[in-house]
Amino acid sequence: MPIRTVIGSGLDWFQDLMRVSALLLVTLRDDPAEAEIPSHRLLLRAGYIRRVASGIYAYLPLMWRVLRKVSAIVREEMDATGALETLLPQLQPAELWEKSGRWAGYTEGEGIMFHLIDRQERELGLGPTHEEVITSLAAELLRSYRQLPVTLYQIQSKFRDEIRPRFGLMRGREFIMKDAYSFHAGPEDLAREFGIMEEAYSRIFRRCGVQALAVEADSGAIGGSASKEFMVTAAAGEDLILSSPDGSYAANQERAQALPQPAQPLEVEGSSVLKTPGQATIDDLCSAHGFQPCQILKVILLVARFEQGRAQPVLVSLRGDQQLNEVKLSNVLQSSHAPEWGALLSLQPLLATELADASRMPLGFIGPDLEDGVLAGSSTLEPEFLRLADHTAVELETFVCGANSNDQHRVGVRWGQQGLVAPEPLDLRCALEGDGLTHDPSQKLCASRGIEVGHIFQLGRKYSQALDARFTNENGRDEPLWMGCYGIGVSRLAQAAVEQHHDEAGIVWPVPIAPFELVVVIANAKDPVQVDLAERLYRELSAAGVDVLLDDRSERAGVKFKDAELLGIPWRLVVGRGAADGLVELVERASGDKREGAPAVLLASLQEQLQQQRLGL
Ligand code: ATP
Ligand code: MG
Repeated sequence: MPIRTVIGSGLDWFQDLMRVSALLLVTLRDDPAEAEIPSHRLLLRAGYIRRVASGIYAYLPLMWRVLRKVSAIVREEMDATGALETLLPQLQPAELWEKSGRWAGYTEGEGIMFHLIDRQERELGLGPTHEEVITSLAAELLRSYRQLPVTLYQIQSKFRDEIRPRFGLMRGREFIMKDAYSFHAGPEDLAREFGIMEEAYSRIFRRCGVQALAVEADSGAIGGSASKEFMVTAAAGEDLILSSPDGSYAANQERAQALPQPAQPLEVEGSSVLKTPGQATIDDLCSAHGFQPCQILKVILLVARFEQGRAQPVLVSLRGDQQLNEVKLSNVLQSSHAPEWGALLSLQPLLATELADASRMPLGFIGPDLEDGVLAGSSTLEPEFLRLADHTAVELETFVCGANSNDQHRVGVRWGQQGLVAPEPLDLRCALEGDGLTHDPSQKLCASRGIEVGHIFQLGRKYSQALDARFTNENGRDEPLWMGCYGIGVSRLAQAAVEQHHDEAGIVWPVPIAPFELVVVIANAKDPVQVDLAERLYRELSAAGVDVLLDDRSERAGVKFKDAELLGIPWRLVVGRGAADGLVELVERASGDKREGAPAVLLASLQEQLQQQRLGL
């Protein structure tokens, strides 16, 4: 599709003539101390963003051009799916969130939502997301199956009081998101829309010039419904992706299921108690007695706190070489307890200080049969443990575990003996690199890191039930709407593009989202021949639809070249000494290729290449 029609409607802004001398360009010579990853460092150094407070950034004019280009691509692809653009309020009344059951979790629990009390003593939150608002609107606007399906989207700042804001725009407390919500008469139609969104997302990321991988994602306690995340692969990514070599499986570690490495059997006769003074960790036990971690059963004690004030002690058994997956555990707890006790607010280690008698808790020497008696007398905790086990722990035939008294373990223990009751086997472990693929154990999972730039989700009827958003179906019966939601982190995506495209000299923007496509550099601004030619080419290029910048500063040529590289402008046209002979130089940022020639010849070939590059090819 030709870019002109893409940008044609009201987006001619990018063709404005622009001179570096008028750009308010303030670059930094040194790496800012606050930046830990390349993209953050480069955006600060090149004058794209400035930090105002923790997780709060100003998008300077160059960055705003990038964000507008990303948004234009997102808009066009959303419009092409038939979605309608809208703009919803950022200030949201607490009542809506109380109806969905998320107010407590988002305020007291994780505390992600900024919230306040207005002059009329009403509680409000600043929108971290918009399911509640959109569903309450749907309840008023949608009545009949004839109005369905319908999808609404917006591009707007979201607010989240992140626990660890970091990496600049990657995890901000105020950031730009595209969020879309779809409404359907049934699950099949929702699944159809989900597929359309998945394709639109793939096109968006490709057109933005980033490589993104669609992976299976955790869909939280809502259960069963499909959810996919789009990951920009980069070493600095916060998410771990596990994928199969043949590409048939890729999932976020939060969600990934896989076949663990088999355990090595513990070769011992009968069971015995072993003195293990001070050997409170798996490493200690293994080095002192020659066990393998996979022969030890480890116990993790946690407290799950729920909205209605109940605090459930949880005892999780895992095979010693495995890691607990807190997302999987939270989902189990949420679905077992939340219906009665309200939302799960937090999951934290059980501290001995919460017990009436801390001396009864032999930390480091605990077995799965730790008595509920240790909880007796606590004023805050429920009196019995919820005992859960990962399947790797339940599948152990013979194992080593704590003896529930200090400095002692048991060796050669089996489930079903000594009063040890095996809990129902659950998947509570983190899948790991090297694990077997469930449907093809010969394939071993590979790990890579990713930046989540998008998430699409079949919500089902959770919100429509809670907020009473109902429609009349074809048979005249009244039922809750089926919903999907689809997010893209617009500002995170722009930075992720830098994370994927940079070198030692600076940013290397993909053409479709670069703040300018080309910079015309006047090597010597005191030479009238150079100035005249550069000015003429600059106007011609702009008239020909190239998004062009003119570096007209009276700096040394080397400084201007360095800045052009730092800024990451994809093409540079240098008007230097050759101007007297009608020659200029064209340099491509990504490849470093240089060509000298007559402007007409160079610019014709540039136009051809740009046409491809604007499409993200
Ligand atoms: P994360 O796991 O990274 O916190 P999330 O699951 O909370 O993300 P969603 O609620 O699905 O994210 O939001 C949709 C998109 O918004 C994400 O895919 C991501 O690209 C972006 N996003 C989420 N939180 C932030 C943030 N704090 N700063 C910038 N972008 C964000
Ligand atoms: Mg988040």
